[in-house]
Amino acid sequence: MCGIVGYIGCQNAIDVLLDGLSHLEYRGYDSAGVALMGENKINIHKALGKLCNLIEDLKKKDPKEIKSHAGIGHIRWATHGLPTLANAHPHSCNCKGLTLVHNGIIENYQEIKNFLTEKGVTFTSQTDTEVAAHLIAYEYGKTKDLIQAVSNATKKLKGAWAFCVMHKNEPDSIVATRKNAPLLIGKGNGENFLASDIVAIIKYTKKAIYLEDNQIAKITKDTISIYNEDLILTENKVESLPFEPVALSKMGYKHFMLKEINEQPDVIRNILQGKIKDEFSKVNLPDVNLDKKQIEKINRIQIIACGTSFHAGLVGKYIIEELTNIPVEVETSSEYIYRKTIADEKTLVIGISQSGETADTITAIKQVKEKNAHVLIITNRKESLLARLSDSLLHINAGIEVSVAATKSYIAQLVSIYLLAIYMAEKKDEKEEKLQTIKHELLMLPAKIEAVLSNSKKIQEIAKKYSSYKNFIFIARGINYPSALEGALKLKEISYINATGYAAGELKHGPIAMLDETMPVLAILNKGMVYDKVMSNCEEAYARRAKLIGVANNIDDKHKTIFDDIILIPDIDDSVSPALNITVCQLLAYFIAEYLGKDVDQPRNLAKSVTVE
Ligand code: GLU
Repeated sequence: MCGIVGYIGCQNAIDVLLDGLSHLEYRGYDSAGVALMGENKINIHKALGKLCNLIEDLKKKDPKEIKSHAGIGHIRWATHGLPTLANAHPHSCNCKGLTLVHNGIIENYQEIKNFLTEKGVTFTSQTDTEVAAHLIAYEYGKTKDLIQAVSNATKKLKGAWAFCVMHKNEPDSIVATRKNAPLLIGKGNGENFLASDIVAIIKYTKKAIYLEDNQIAKITKDTISIYNEDLILTENKVESLPFEPVALSKMGYKHFMLKEINEQPDVIRNILQGKIKDEFSKVNLPDVNLDKKQIEKINRIQIIACGTSFHAGLVGKYIIEELTNIPVEVETSSEYIYRKTIADEKTLVIGISQSGETADTITAIKQVKEKNAHVLIITNRKESLLARLSDSLLHINAGIEVSVAATKSYIAQLVSIYLLAIYMAEKKDEKEEKLQTIKHELLMLPAKIEAVLSNSKKIQEIAKKYSSYKNFIFIARGINYPSALEGALKLKEISYINATGYAAGELKHGPIAMLDETMPVLAILNKGMVYDKVMSNCEEAYARRAKLIGVANNIDDKHKTIFDDIILIPDIDDSVSPALNITVCQLLAYFIAEYLGKDVDQPRNLAKSVTVE
């Protein structure tokens, strides 16, 4: 959460900061702020809400007032304190000589606040961050050295942080440090950058240095000095950044989310290229470092993920167990980390994270690494911290996803998991015929999704019809149970309708009490093993007068009449159907939210990359 940018060099800092922040808006939009180095003082500008509000405010200023060679910027996703101007970053010490931006949570902030209050410090915000500004300033008062002060102060903090700090006495440098929150340095020519994510600086430089936990960096326009915990100068590798600047354009679509849903067929084609030739050839996963012997040794698989990635992991459980006979547990990272870690060298741990920076998943993966489990990461960002922690990597290669609600990255995660399941089964010489069917279905999937997309008009009409309902239930069984969860999550995230996904068989164990004519129930019913069972649950819902929407590849005539609406999808083998069904749910959620006039790409309270625990 939160996006940080820093710049020092010959360009006008404000231009680089605002441009950088505009690429980080997916990380939060509660407020935006910048601090610019001035003549013997630091000038701060903040605005509530999205970055565009800050940009508008700055347009009214005298350009001379905002001209500077150095500055830091921030967009906030509030953890401590309301989204108010007082709580917006940058935060400063009482004399305003020192200012900083922060991503993370300072867990012991209350204790430090008490200590500083006794020393006479006054606080002006409700944030945890403000204590860091005062504490570093307090240490600076003793040492008169910003690196030393940051080192002394951070040793007293508990929690997670990425900080960029400026002091008016050191106008030609910015100091930065991180612990369990992302921060990288962009190395330029006569200029240097800091950012939470490469997208903020890729336009300016292709060379990056990733800071390690507890390292402290001092950047000037010509130099980058990195110190370890004991303040000994160290050298970090300069890495080449992997991609070209992307023109983040909606390409004529009203929202990025719709564009990204429409990109799904190409995303799949892209992933499959080089990995499956045809249904008779074996799957090739070059960055998965598991040979036949290692796979045969694995006796359990744990999948750890959050949110939409967790739902992809649940699909993984069904397909990996089916194809490999290895038991799979799936757990949300935030639950996994607070109990005994039971894993060993025979365990394969799969971490799934779109951004590769999800704080809870990082903590979980660090825990299992200590137990010598093989760590396989599925992510859209191969330069991310999780990717760097992995023994094996599945880069989902979905391209930058701008919409906060994940769509194409979910499909890309699913396809990557199918490939992994097939890869492992092939190494174990399992279920050849089934594998051929799945490979064939994966190769056909882009065309089938295109068929669903061409049916958008019908889904749009249905969306309009149901947009006034306050609650929604999604049901499915088997491998589509995660589709019900993900479909409900999508609707909740962007329309704020109270939607819940249930295993269809669970309906009668409680949720059925909520059913009446005010409750739409969307049922996912692929022809397959569980079709008849889900149909019985639909009958039960119909008998309680619920409005029924069926998503299916075929519905028998005798059942058609119980449905208020039916969305037909192409025929597909049950095992791969989650990728197709979810496209329907994504479109339905999108059109409902769009019809309600919601901020589809940046839904309230959410951020895309969840870098706080
Ligand atoms: N804890 C800080 C705040 O609430 C930073 C939040 C974050 O990084 O998400 O302002």
